[in-house]
Amino acid sequence: MIATDLQNGVERLGELIAQSSAIVPFTGAGISTESGIPDFRSPGGLWTRNRPIPFDEFVADQDARDEAWRRRFAMEETFAAAKPTRGHRALAALYKAGKVPGLITQNIDNLHQASGINPADVVELHGNTTYARCIGCGTRYELAWVKQRFDASGQAPSCLRCEQPVKTATISFGQAMPEDEMQRAAELSERCDLFLAIGSSLVVWPAAGFPLLAKRSGAKLVIINNEPTEQDEHADLVIRHDIGETLGPFVGN
Ligand SMILES: [Zn+2]
Repeated sequence: MIATDLQNGVERLGELIAQSSAIVPFTGAGISTESGIPDFRSPGGLWTRNRPIPFDEFVADQDARDEAWRRRFAMEETFAAAKPTRGHRALAALYKAGKVPGLITQNIDNLHQASGINPADVVELHGNTTYARCIGCGTRYELAWVKQRFDASGQAPSCLRCEQPVKTATISFGQAMPEDEMQRAAELSERCDLFLAIGSSLVVWPAAGFPLLAKRSGAKLVIINNEPTEQDEHADLVIRHDIGETLGPFVGN
């Protein structure tokens, strides 16, 4: 059912949360826009103005790597200034209350960890842009190290151990989904009794399959998004309102 208004939605959501012991939130870009992080996929978003650099181009071409890092550094002020929103804080409150065994996110902004959720309990389907890794051996590098090398040489740096390219720890277009994270997300979806899809239009597969997997496994499904989604018809509750306003009442739980 679709909540008739915000108050009705918040009340119904409160009842479902009270009845549940294993809640799995699944978050998309919409939860972070309140913090100033743009939705890359939205009309007018970064990806409609700057064609994303596919993984194979990044691997093959130094110019592509240089461009990818220039774009990332240009975004650093935005990412560095972003703080967890009311939505992030509400989910962290449920987590601290012992109701959330783990959280699945399509976001790369590290804001769930910043809100107080143990990094080990955040399943990042698209990786994390707040640090970098060598694409060969997986060694972690901090962005400050990459920036220093880039500024000194004018080129994106390679790994000190194996000389393969160093890339933000995100999943790029054309890059395989991370197997371990996909497996953990599936397990969380199968074992929860309430699945909260928040701020995602649920069109990007395979990630969009998790709400349906949870529903098929017996969980209640709630969708909170400003716009209609592809899966509203399967949901037990749909709240088409601002995420901050919808989850704000749960921050103090
Ligand atoms: Zn390496």
